[in-house]
Amino acid sequence: MTANSPAMWVGIDLAYFIGTVLLVIGLRRMSSPSRARSGIWYAGVGMAIAIIATLTIAGDPGRRVLIPIAMFIGAAFAFIQSRRVSMTDAPALIALYNGLGGGAAAGIAFVELLRAAEHTSSLRVFALVGALAGSIAFAGSFMAWQKLRTGMRRSIPFPNRQVVYLAIMVLMLLVGLVLASSNTSHPVLLFMFVVLALFFGISMTLPIAAADLPVLISLYNALTGLAVGVEGYVLGNPAMMVAGTLVFASGALLTRLMARAVNRRLSEIMYSGFGVNENERKDSRKEGFVNEIEAHDAAASMAFANRVIVVPGYGMAVAQAQHKLRELTQLLDERGVQTAFAIHPVAGRMPGHMNVLLADAGVPYEKIADLSAINEEFSQADVALVIGANDTVNPSAKTDESSPLYGMPVLNVDQAGSVIVLKRGDGRGYADVSNSLLESAGTRVLLGDAKDSLQELISCIKAMD
Ligand code: NDP
Repeated sequence: MTANSPAMWVGIDLAYFIGTVLLVIGLRRMSSPSRARSGIWYAGVGMAIAIIATLTIAGDPGRRVLIPIAMFIGAAFAFIQSRRVSMTDAPALIALYNGLGGGAAAGIAFVELLRAAEHTSSLRVFALVGALAGSIAFAGSFMAWQKLRTGMRRSIPFPNRQVVYLAIMVLMLLVGLVLASSNTSHPVLLFMFVVLALFFGISMTLPIAAADLPVLISLYNALTGLAVGVEGYVLGNPAMMVAGTLVFASGALLTRLMARAVNRRLSEIMYSGFGVNENERKDSRKEGFVNEIEAHDAAASMAFANRVIVVPGYGMAVAQAQHKLRELTQLLDERGVQTAFAIHPVAGRMPGHMNVLLADAGVPYEKIADLSAINEEFSQADVALVIGANDTVNPSAKTDESSPLYGMPVLNVDQAGSVIVLKRGDGRGYADVSNSLLESAGTRVLLGDAKDSLQELISCIKAMD
């Protein structure tokens, strides 16, 4: 098979096809916690095949060297980072990696637009859409990463936000029209277009309050997919087109689901800096809970209950307490107590965070219910056991209009017969607002690291036999 022979191109197309099919199978498998690990392998092998095919047709020998060098640097960086990063910081890192994908797609668009004469005006429009979506995803994800990493929880609003957004969009449209209609490259205008898009991404993220960040992260995920997909079209690369379209579609769907979960409209994300409350209360009080409980009392109230609903949150992930939690619920089950797990859609720090941890600990899927399925059942539960969850169980989201959480559906733990909260001290949740649940009469707080507290509860229950 000689270089550029028809047989070689059939081989390349076949390689892209196989790579794409493996990617689709991989993504499909990732939707189930038990098959997710193999799904990552399928997708990885698929992408490796596509990369080899791309290297084969790279043409210029310089590219065949530069591409592996760039891949090696990226892989080494990611490998070192992922070994260092704790499980709880993984969501922030994923937000960053997602943004890098958008940045890479924007980089491709930039190069293609510099070669304006080689493309038709419609391809230049596609390249511009990729540059726009990729740059917004890159800058926005970078800001989201910073917010998650540094705990920058409150919104950082700036005056006349909507006017600024509109001005940027009009400017980008004008610059984009010139770039799309001209056969010659305009590096300065192109640079301006990308800078405006980056600025748009940053300004869209800054005003977002903590509780609404998950929606924005999944929106950026969708934008990265869009950027990769359209750049795949510009380059005529089917693997990029399919991978990008899949990421775009799943990201868009997830954004919709997350927006519904926190009761916000998607249009608010784009235009009004949703979740921003200009009169946000500057509430610097720490939590003022009054009722502490000892481990043996907490263990007794659960051991003699009919029904216990467990609510895990970010603190469970921090403490890596999921295995102890499964052990505790198994003990309760053996005593005839009905146990169930209630999962809030934004619990933890990434979509599906709690489901992944509970699946990892071997909690049976049928015991896990999401907010909409279980929220009515709290009133029939004797005990709600809250483990490191705060914002997702804060009743003021239902009543306090000045709270940044206002309007977000929360788990109705306050309707259970009694509430036991496992937390270390007077720390707040991600949204940094006080939690009226902790001050209510039916709530008792078992102080300590969640894993240690669960171990104590397990020992107490075992001692009852
Ligand atoms: P929160 O972040 O609201 O609360 C965490 C609680 O865990 C705190 O009260 C803290 O109190 C406690 N905690 C921390 N470490 C430990 C430990 N080692 N042992 C015991 N308790 C501990 O968690 P939720 O899951 O309820 O809410 C998630 C929040 O994160 C929401 O606001 C959501 O919008 C936001 N978010 C979610 C994302 C997602 O995609 N899921 C992404 C980005 C943000 P103390 O310090 O006293 O122990």
